[in-house]
Order: sequence, then C-alpha cells, then structure tokens
Amino acid sequence: MSGTDKFVEDLTDKSDDFSRWYGEVIQKAQLADYAPVRGCMVIRPYGFAIWELMQAALDKRIKDTGHQNAYFPLLIPENFLAKEAEHVEGFAPQVAWVTHGGNEKLEERLAIRPTSEAIICHMYSKWIDSHRDLPVLINQWANVMRWEKVTRLFLRTAEFLWQEGHTAHATEAESEEETLKMLEVYRDFIETEMAIPVIKGRKSEQEKFAGALRTYSVEALMSDGKGLQAGTSHNLGQHFAKVFDITFQDVDGERRHVWQTSWGVSTRLMGALIMVHGDDSGLKIPPRIAPIQAVVIPIYRKETERAEVLEASHQAASLLKAGGVRVYVDDRDQYTPGWKYNEYELRGVPLRLEVGPRDVAARQVMSVRRDNRAKEAIAWDFLAERVPMVLEEVQKALFQKALEFRESSTRSAATLDELDVVVSEHRGFVRAYWCGRNSCEDQVKARCAATIRCLPLDDHSEPGKCVVCGADAPHRVLFAKSY
Ligand SMILES: [Zn+2]
Repeated sequence: MSGTDKFVEDLTDKSDDFSRWYGEVIQKAQLADYAPVRGCMVIRPYGFAIWELMQAALDKRIKDTGHQNAYFPLLIPENFLAKEAEHVEGFAPQVAWVTHGGNEKLEERLAIRPTSEAIICHMYSKWIDSHRDLPVLINQWANVMRWEKVTRLFLRTAEFLWQEGHTAHATEAESEEETLKMLEVYRDFIETEMAIPVIKGRKSEQEKFAGALRTYSVEALMSDGKGLQAGTSHNLGQHFAKVFDITFQDVDGERRHVWQTSWGVSTRLMGALIMVHGDDSGLKIPPRIAPIQAVVIPIYRKETERAEVLEASHQAASLLKAGGVRVYVDDRDQYTPGWKYNEYELRGVPLRLEVGPRDVAARQVMSVRRDNRAKEAIAWDFLAERVPMVLEEVQKALFQKALEFRESSTRSAATLDELDVVVSEHRGFVRAYWCGRNSCEDQVKARCAATIRCLPLDDHSEPGKCVVCGADAPHRVLFAKSY
C-alpha cells in the first residue's frame, strides 16, 4: 500500500495553498497540461471527455430553444474588427495577428478571432434582407484566442474552446427576451449538469461587453471564496447592426436595423468545476458529466479468488452498462486496490464499487460514494436500479453542498469600511447598495480589489444608501474578488 500513501501525500491540501492545489489536481488527474506556447493548454483525454459531456448537454439545450449550429472562419480581416470602435478598443490589447502567408507579407493583417461578432455581422448583412429572414438563431462551437499576459489552466488561457451564439431579431423586445432566455439556459445547464449554483444578474456599465447595450451573466462562487463569471449573455442592441449595415425590410415596408444578441460559455467552466467541488483528495465530478460514473474494483488476495472476483466484476459492469451507467472495470493486476481507490478519488469518479470474495458469495457489491464516502452494500439484483439512484443522490448532494457554501459565504455591508473588512477577512459574495456611479465602483475596486459581479435579477430589496457615497441607491449589487 506504499503507493497509496504516496499519492495522497503528493497532493497539496486545498486549505494550505488553493492555487497550487488547483494546478496539481489538473495535472495529476490528467485533465490538461501546459503547451509549448505560453498561455496555451493541451486538454488531455479525461478532461476532454468531461468537456464533451458538458458540450452535449448544453448543445441539446441550445438546439431545443430553436438554435442551429454553424461554423465561421478563424481569421478576421483587420478592417472588420476596426469597424466598431468600442469593440476593437475592448479587444485590441489581446488580439493575435497573422501578418504573413508563407513568406509573403499580407496586405492586410488578419486577426485570429478573439470573438466572432465582426465576421458574423458581415455575413448577416448579406443574409438578412426581409422580416421573413428573422429571427436568425445561430450558434457556433469554436476555439478563440486572446493574448493573455497572466494565464492559468482552464481559467485564463490564450486559446480556449467555447460556444458563441449570435442572433438577430426584428425588435428590441425580442432581442431582450432572447438574451434572458439564454441566460436561463446557462443557469439551468450549470446548475443541473454541473451541480454549481449560480446567480443571474446584469453587469455594470464598466463590466459589460465591449459594444453591448446590456450584458447579463451567471456568477458562481468558488470554494476559496472568489467569484467566477460562468457565462455571459449580451443584448447588443443595434450597435453592430448599424456598423455592419444589417437591415431588413419590415412589414410596413420600412428598412430597419436588426437587434442582436450574443452569448457564450467556455472551457473556463472546467475551472469552476474543479474549484467548486474538489477537495484534498482531488476532483469530484458530478455524475451527469462524469466520463466514468462508477468504477468497479476487483479485490482478491489469493490467485484462487481471482477468477470468480473478476467474473463477478465484469458481470456487475454489464448489468450497469445495460442500465445506461458509464462504468469501467479496473482489473489491472499491477496496481493494488488501495492505489486504485486513491486514483479514482483523485479523478473524481462519483461511485466506487468494490467486489471481493465475500461480496461474490453474498451476491452483492460494496458501493462507496466519492462525495461523502458513504458505503452501501447493493445486491446484484438491484444493481441496475439502485446505482442510477445513488448517482442522482450524489448529483443533488454536490449541488446542495455548493449552495450551502455560497449561502454561508454571502454577507452584506453598509459602509466601505465594512465592505473592506468582509472582503479581506471572509472573501465570498457581499451584497451592498450601489448608487450606479462609476466613481463609487472604482473606489471599491481600489480599496478592496473587489468588483461588482452583477446586479442580481432576483434582488427585490427596498432602495437604500450607496455603500461608498451614501447617496440614494436603487438596489443592492453583488461584490466579490474574482477570477
Ligand atoms: Zn455611490
């Protein structure tokens, strides 16, 4: 069992050094690795399998709400990007440029997409002509590149994977409805599939997307008390439509500019998954997006036990597979059961099923949950029925635990001093009144290094006094340090 002990010792305790723990979990669980180009990452098979399950669950929701997938090119001519002033200003410091084709210098630089509004708007101006062409509801799954100075695997990488939805509508009401609809799709996806509770809200003017009318986001709280923007949905208004000349002939014969939205989530969500659920033993993957939902570990000491234990293990796996469970039998002889326990805990597999000689005799398996290590003997006859139920219980328990952490980590503050104390001593979310002025927002940032995460849509508090200047404030907002 020496291998066992070594593995546990190897992983830094989460409470000792969160950032180091985070990096180690990613490496040891083989989710991702650093690429030769600084800021880029390699997503390894286990990490990619999780991403694919997330992608499938979200893609279904995107399609169920009437959208279609398409693909737009990676390269965007410089003049396209430059058309919308705010947009280019927002992204200019992070754009990577292609300047040469082979040995020849290009006449015009090409941007590697930091986002695709410019190229998609150009195409929409060709495709949209009449009110009958609306709405246009398109999504694309793609990679994008933003030349980040400080990077961290999944959370901030120069190249990352995402989906970006881009829609065009006849009226402002429709575009606002779409923006909020997709925000709700994100909330449902992140809470249901990833077991991460989120708060829906609107971004402040300073935090909104470059070129948008209004930006909404879903905000999550990581287990170190820092916030993370888990997804955004923008009502772009008519800014881009005017710049890219996207017009349609309305029912009354008038030509009008379309109203647009864009919305996205990215591989950042993988970072949230690790930081919300993980513990000192490693990852905890919510069952719905776990590539392996249950791992079967055969246990035998004597060679005479080997055959029957292996046979029972594979039989158990067949029963579960037939019941739709993603199951894997680790029957490798070169590792001890104890080593395997640690390995699958590290990798966050929700359920471990132990099969030893006594289990074979009793026609049962011993199940051990990853989230709380609860043990339960499950008779073979009930395996296909019981395991999916246990997995659903794990899914719910992970969400509940994260929700309770968020609730207990959400405080309020009435003055800037109070806000500063809460942020520096506890981190977490802080609900406080804000008058809406940029200067007050900036003052909080300078003093506490906390930003307005969002103006929560569910906040129905009475008007109060701004936490900074004391002026009348219409509503409370959510402050936090964030990733
Ligand atoms: Zn103020």
